[in-house]
Amino acid sequence: MTEVPEALATVLDRARPLAADAVALGPAVLGRVLSEDVASDIDSPPYAKSIMDGYAVRSADVQGPATLTVIEEVAAGRMPTRAVGPGQAARIMTGAPIPDGADAVVPHEVTVADGPGVRFTKAVRAGQFILPRGREMKAGEVVVPAGTVLGPAALGLLAAVGRTAALLHAVARVSILSTGDEVVEADQSPGPGQIRNSNGPMLQALAARAGAHPRYLGIGRDDPAVLARLVRQGLDDGDVLVLSGGVSAGKFDFVPGVLREAGVEAHLHKVRMKPGKPLFFGTRGDKLVFGLPGNPLSSFVGFELFVRPALRKLAGHAVPGPTFVPVPLTSELVTENDRPTYAPARLEVTPAGLGVRPAPWFGSADLRGFLTADALLQLPAGPVNYGAGTPVPALLLGL
Ligand code: AMP
Ligand code: MG
Repeated sequence: MTEVPEALATVLDRARPLAADAVALGPAVLGRVLSEDVASDIDSPPYAKSIMDGYAVRSADVQGPATLTVIEEVAAGRMPTRAVGPGQAARIMTGAPIPDGADAVVPHEVTVADGPGVRFTKAVRAGQFILPRGREMKAGEVVVPAGTVLGPAALGLLAAVGRTAALLHAVARVSILSTGDEVVEADQSPGPGQIRNSNGPMLQALAARAGAHPRYLGIGRDDPAVLARLVRQGLDDGDVLVLSGGVSAGKFDFVPGVLREAGVEAHLHKVRMKPGKPLFFGTRGDKLVFGLPGNPLSSFVGFELFVRPALRKLAGHAVPGPTFVPVPLTSELVTENDRPTYAPARLEVTPAGLGVRPAPWFGSADLRGFLTADALLQLPAGPVNYGAGTPVPALLLGL
């Protein structure tokens, strides 16, 4: 049985970033990863500009109380028409270009109108309230490097340097297949011995939250021929195939055999963790295949620990995760597990900072225990007896 860190390394070793395409930039690309260095095509600001509403002056003229003649008004988006000469000032708005001759801006609030002129009461410093040309960036300078995860600031910056499209790593297409003779879809009334399919919708949502494109294949009966057809379809249509159910050692757990027949090379079959021990991972060429146990929590945890990091690596993320951060408990935690355990928990903001409270859960079919969970706590095998305040490694879900 493989330990979690070694299993993760096995998965990540085989997940290679997908090729890049040119993609139109917009909110739909949030969270995607840039695969080219983007340089500025301009100096920014393109001219020395005022960062205040006020008066552009020659600092030498205002070395103490002084009154200057106002020669014109420069609005943002307009160029000054006259140079500021000795004894002169120009009214200027935020963002407007500094007129020739001026070397400082005095905020409007500290001036007094004086007929056709303006009065200043205090000395000004050369350069004050002026953003010099090219201070933010220079033409040719790389401002958004390859590997940047596109957030709002990156999208704003890319627009500032004239980009409407950029090379982005593709995101994985994830084929999702539920298996099990007992499983029926949500719009059906379960007959005797049947349960509804939680994993199909849950795994699609997990894939979407991880930034990938889910494609749902439906429910495969516990029949090798049916599974073989769906597995082939999933491998052909996706970069990643995620199955739930049928991976343990039961009589009707056909998934590993079917995958082998379909040319999938197995790399992992059991991981020492709880929930989710019978986790299968294999590859066919560059395609990744995950067989997650059918119990919803096992599928959930297996997805967050292994599938999501793989999807992130495929999408070009330099840090695929999962990233655990220590968060102090807000209540005590007493438990005992035979394997390293990933338990649902809820983050809480306390006066002392961020804390985490374990959520009650009753085994690996109990999705309700995960309903309000926004973290998974990593607990060691064996007895655990943590007092409130103990920092515990927490995986923040959806981050
Ligand atoms: P399996 O991994 O196929 O042995 O299934 C383990 C448990 O998970 C069984 O109790 C199944 O009924 C249940 N299960 C399997 N698939 C699903 C599903 N898609 N949604 C909810 N429960 C499932
Ligand atoms: Mg099954």
